[in-house]
Amino acid sequence: MPRIVQLPPLVITKIAAGEVIERPASVVKELLENSLDAGSSRIDVDVEQGGIELIRVVDDGCGIAAEDMKLAFASHATSKLSDVEDLFRISTLGFRGEALASVGSVARVTLQSLPAGAAHGTEIQCEGGQLSELRPWNGTPGTRIEVRNLFYNTPVRRKFLRTQSTELGHVSETFTRLALAHLQVHWTLRHQQKPIYELSASAGLLDRIQHFFGREIRDQLYPVEAQHGPVRLKGFVADPACDRGNSKLQYLFLNGRWIRDRSLGHALQEAYRGLLMTGRYPVAFLFLDLPPDQVDVNVHPTKAEVRFREGNAVYHLVLGAIREQLRARNLTARLLPPSTLAAPQIANEPPPWSLMAPTPPSARLPFGADVPTSTSPPPMDFSTHPAAPAPSIPATNGARAIQLYDTYLVLETAEGMLVIDQHALHERILFEQLKARLREGRMESQALLIPEPIDLPAEQASRTLEKSGELGELGIGLEAFGGDTLLLTRYPAILGQRSPVALLRAVVDHLMTRERVPQREQLFNDLLSLMACHAAVRAGDRLAPDQIVALIEQRRLAEDTHHCPHGRPTALLFSRNDLERQFGRK
Ligand code: ADP
Ligand code: MG
Repeated sequence: MPRIVQLPPLVITKIAAGEVIERPASVVKELLENSLDAGSSRIDVDVEQGGIELIRVVDDGCGIAAEDMKLAFASHATSKLSDVEDLFRISTLGFRGEALASVGSVARVTLQSLPAGAAHGTEIQCEGGQLSELRPWNGTPGTRIEVRNLFYNTPVRRKFLRTQSTELGHVSETFTRLALAHLQVHWTLRHQQKPIYELSASAGLLDRIQHFFGREIRDQLYPVEAQHGPVRLKGFVADPACDRGNSKLQYLFLNGRWIRDRSLGHALQEAYRGLLMTGRYPVAFLFLDLPPDQVDVNVHPTKAEVRFREGNAVYHLVLGAIREQLRARNLTARLLPPSTLAAPQIANEPPPWSLMAPTPPSARLPFGADVPTSTSPPPMDFSTHPAAPAPSIPATNGARAIQLYDTYLVLETAEGMLVIDQHALHERILFEQLKARLREGRMESQALLIPEPIDLPAEQASRTLEKSGELGELGIGLEAFGGDTLLLTRYPAILGQRSPVALLRAVVDHLMTRERVPQREQLFNDLLSLMACHAAVRAGDRLAPDQIVALIEQRRLAEDTHHCPHGRPTALLFSRNDLERQFGRK
């Protein structure tokens, strides 16, 4: 029978470290929180190799007394709590006294500190939990901490680390969250000695948002402010036109701490109900302040989740304040605009329909030639496609078909009345054509005359660049352009006059929503379906009669026209039988 033993302290600490320290970004978070709790007004962060080799944080905070230097690395040793009552009114970011002990057990740490007013500073090392002797240190007031070779003694953990650029992306996301919530601090972040971010204490929230997320977002923000009893809400929400395919750009802070909260996420989504398509998420930066005894932050090891005492009231405060702001802006009239297309980038790009009838290369004009594009798409031509009618699709010649609400096509078939969703059907057809082209290596792309710069948060920029090979195969040309800016140089010809930037944003969103990067085939499948969705006619597009006929004809050529690539039906059949029964003819 296995015997029970009490684990040695170092093993206990390593187990705890497993919870708190997952990757370099977790170390950065703990160190920055300590610097903030120390009342720093300037914090400099340096990382090497995504933080795997080195993380250095230098602050000008209150410092650590010489006699506390060893204790700082002890488990459950903290200057931020003294009795149990304190636990229910926490106003510091840290309080568990576990971070330095955890970091010290899985890396080589040097801690140097000089408390303001003290004559001398001290230095100590902690390597895999082993403390050195204290030595004198002559530095500037504040604390300097270096964490080297993270997980050097826990190879399994080290193996789980991703590429440098991915780890750096997580580090800069952590940095971003704290810098958005602590405006009084002058922040810098450098990677391999190259500046990534520098934010002076005079840079307000809007400046910081622009710095991290670009002008496009800053220019579409509306302020929100509300109060209910001691609970205060402040921040910004973005115009629904600025929506995203995931919730990553929803920043929620509670008392200066970035948090995740399902219920408040729901309140935000609910406030935008009717203004966004399903599967789209608003952008928001929300800051809640409430008395520390109204919230329990001790429910999650990294404190990313909290428990509100009056959850309902907070929910309604958030929902009400945002909804009021959106209503005041009278956004309902702009619901699902008929076309959200950006202006065409180049003069002679093929209109979306032309992909169905690829123009022979010889007929193409050189890029940038000043040729007016026709405003009404040319009729489609199917001569290049083998006719392989799928037997299960009701036969129709399409000539009777009418368009309803600029969205549906209604036609008569032998079986009954068929109502087609024009977008869903076109999307499916394009999707199959694209798949065939990719198989045959015939993806066509257009060069942008003037490459389009796109600002992205660092993590997104690096994740997207990691996939630039695959994206290139799909006709999306990308280059790094310094900082977190990417240059879009080529885009799939199928997009025609649709905005290539909108497609790229959707692709980035898609890459970010996936926890694990999908297998190559799945990735291509997903991206082709995105491209088809962007290139297809939309609900609200008025179609010319010949386009209607062409679209219906195409239906017979595709393999599965019953569902769009997302699984929605492309057509509904109201059987003749049913019609007759309902009208009492049978
Ligand atoms: P916690 O932050 O939960 O108290 P940590 O393990 O992160 O636990 O830190 C232990 C203690 O070390 C802190 O309570 C604080 O007194 C001291 N400390 C750590 N970093 C700093 C810093 N940058 N400036 C001043 N004191 C610090
Ligand atoms: Mg701490």
